[in-house]
Amino acid sequence: MTEPRTAIVTGAARGIGAAVAQRLAADGHRVAVVDLDEQACSGTVDAITAAGGSALAVGADVSSESDVTAAVDRVVADLGAPTIVVNNAGVLRDNLLFKMSVDDWDTVMGVHLRGSFLVTKAAQKHMVEASWGRVVNLSSTSALGNRGQANYSAAKAGLQGFTKTLAIELGKFGVTANAIAPGFIQTDMTAATAERVGVPFDDFIKYSAEQIPVQRVGQPEDIAHTASFLVSEGAGFVSGQVIYVAGGPKD
Ligand code: NAP
Repeated sequence: MTEPRTAIVTGAARGIGAAVAQRLAADGHRVAVVDLDEQACSGTVDAITAAGGSALAVGADVSSESDVTAAVDRVVADLGAPTIVVNNAGVLRDNLLFKMSVDDWDTVMGVHLRGSFLVTKAAQKHMVEASWGRVVNLSSTSALGNRGQANYSAAKAGLQGFTKTLAIELGKFGVTANAIAPGFIQTDMTAATAERVGVPFDDFIKYSAEQIPVQRVGQPEDIAHTASFLVSEGAGFVSGQVIYVAGGPKD
């Protein structure tokens, strides 16, 4: 049986984060739906409450220390101390290295790495107090290297190191930390990539599916299912792992 916990899912207004938030709520957890724009969170929150779950919309930029502190304080007050964190908020600023601006580099590092650090740091004391916690960080198959993504691949590889270190430091407090490294998942993010390379999204999906061993692209629910497992009571001996969810060994 699932013991209800308070979960924070960042970047949960849409895409993978929205699916993870809905799945964790369906599993019985109270979910803070965090995204840049609080209004944009209402779709996810409404879907959760319509299904009988409990959710709170919280507007915050995860790369801002003051936003994150205020967001976590609000979650504690309105939903209870968070003991599950899914660091999912993400942005792309793809370009070949010679054309990549310092701003493109800093923005990607700020959201993925600094954001995951800030949210995890703010939440970990509640996990330690509860002697129980689960951290799930969204990495990517791009961590292995991907043309046009020097910033993103470095951030996603960095998240794997961050995850393993969290697992080492927090394990004795009953806290596990794991990373999910998705391959191609059908969301606005991959739609934007198709647009950037000038290929209709349907063709992009079809071509990508042909390269993937299971012959389909991923859906946000594929990642939500993995996150549900990693935050479950029974996954307490799984820590410091990177689980590639990519329809094969890589995308
Ligand atoms: P998405 O559809 O673009 O959704 C990302 C969400 O994060 C958006 O709602 C976005 O808000 C929010 N966000 C961006 N910057 C933020 C910030 N500073 N603070 C709070 N929220 C912020 O992306 P997705 O495809 O669902 O991806 C989710 C995660 O999975 C990302 O970490 C991504 O890198 C990773 N991933 C995705 C794929 C894939 O194929 N889709 C593959 C591997 C890994 P706005 O809408 O306001 O920008």
